[in-house]
Amino acid sequence: MSSDVIEDRLDSATVHPAGRADFAPDVGVLRAMSTVLPGALPVAVNGIRVAASIRPRKFVIAGGDDTPVTMPRTAFQVMYPDCCVMIDSGLDQATHDSFSPDKPEPYFPDQFAKVARALDAARLIVVTHFHADHVAGVLTARNFTSLARKTIITTETARCLVETPHRPHLKLSRQAVANFMVLDYPVCYPVAPGLVLIKAPGHSPDSQMVFIRLQSGREILHSVDSAWIMDNILELKGKAAPWVKEDVPAVMAQLRWLKRVHESDKNVTILVTHDDKHFDAVATAGRIGTELKL
Ligand SMILES: [Zn+2]
Repeated sequence: MSSDVIEDRLDSATVHPAGRADFAPDVGVLRAMSTVLPGALPVAVNGIRVAASIRPRKFVIAGGDDTPVTMPRTAFQVMYPDCCVMIDSGLDQATHDSFSPDKPEPYFPDQFAKVARALDAARLIVVTHFHADHVAGVLTARNFTSLARKTIITTETARCLVETPHRPHLKLSRQAVANFMVLDYPVCYPVAPGLVLIKAPGHSPDSQMVFIRLQSGREILHSVDSAWIMDNILELKGKAAPWVKEDVPAVMAQLRWLKRVHESDKNVTILVTHDDKHFDAVATAGRIGTELKL
């Protein structure tokens, strides 16, 4: 990929002529932005695993071996005193199974049923990027229209859903995508009290991270899919799956930033969508709950 193309994709970052990207949102800016919107800050974040894919570690992180790694498919619920916001929507079983029709992988229908109820009950839904495991819970819902009308996506996500759907059956028409709230912003943007979106193209052209500030003062940085597991961040080693087509310099810059934040700001807990052990660790430490409030 030419550096021109990379630059095109990185509104919030700088690409040097050598193709090395910078990614350095100011945590002070995110923190300040998290408190500007009127309304109470969130009180808690709950996470849920609706499915998993199991991959050899050599695909999950550069230099890995054949050890199987369980990668959950997760969604998160941000609890406010009087409502909740969903971050991503999980995926229905048919979409999950469509990834590996010959070799079924773990799927937890009871957990997805809870996500579907939480989506119904949510005041607002934020979709981090167009990939099926993040968006299918909205796209395949019986009540798609009513869910889409309370879901925020970016211009780039809208374009991907219409032009480059992750699975063929998830392709949206222009009329269908018009139901969403479509947002465009250059670097970061507060969409709810304590909830700031961070533009982070790299894993996909439309990827975003989410910074959350709770009433308690604790902060959570959901890194979404920049890393697949926390070790990608801690070891500064990217994914190594042959089917993953990422903007590698952009993702590596994000991993360096996430590692810096992780090491320098102990108030910030980092979440990673697909890391089973890290999910357990942050839950055990009390940083997230593991039951959705329904
Ligand atoms: Zn994902």
